[in-house]
Amino acid sequence: MHEMSLAVAVVDQVETVARSRGAVGVSSIELEVGELAGVVADALAFCFELACAGTVVEGAELITRTVPGTARCAPCAEVWAVGMPPLLLCPGCGAAADELVSGRELRIREVRWADPESREDRRTDGEAPREEHRQPITEES
Ligand SMILES: [Zn+2]
Repeated sequence: MHEMSLAVAVVDQVETVARSRGAVGVSSIELEVGELAGVVADALAFCFELACAGTVVEGAELITRTVPGTARCAPCAEVWAVGMPPLLLCPGCGAAADELVSGRELRIREVRWADPESREDRRTDGEAPREEHRQPITEES
C-alpha cells in the first residue's frame, strides 16, 4: 500500500503546517510524482480521500503532476525519456544509463490554503495564500 502511506504522509505534513499557521482549511495540494516512483495516480487519489477525512485537509483538491522519467548517458551526454517500462540503455550508443535525471520525485509542490473570506465569484488583486514546499515526502530508498 505505497499510495496509502504516501497519502497519509502528505495529509500529516499539510495538517501540521495548517495547525501551526491557524489555517481553516486547504483549497488544494499539488504533488509532483515521478513516472518511475511507482505511484498509481488513481489509487493515490482514492487513498487521499480516506486519509484526509476528518482532518483540516478534508475537501482539498489533490492535483498530481507527473514528472517524466529521464536518464543520462555519461559517454555521449544523451538525455532521453525512459518511458514505462523504463528504457535504461542509451538510444545513442547502447551504454547503460549513467543516472536517472528525473522520474523518482515524490514531493509536495504547492499548498493553497482556503481563505475563509474569499468567495468563488470574487477575485482579489492579491495572490492566493500559497506556500512552496520542495522537501521530499519520503526518503528515497
Ligand atoms: Zn550514450
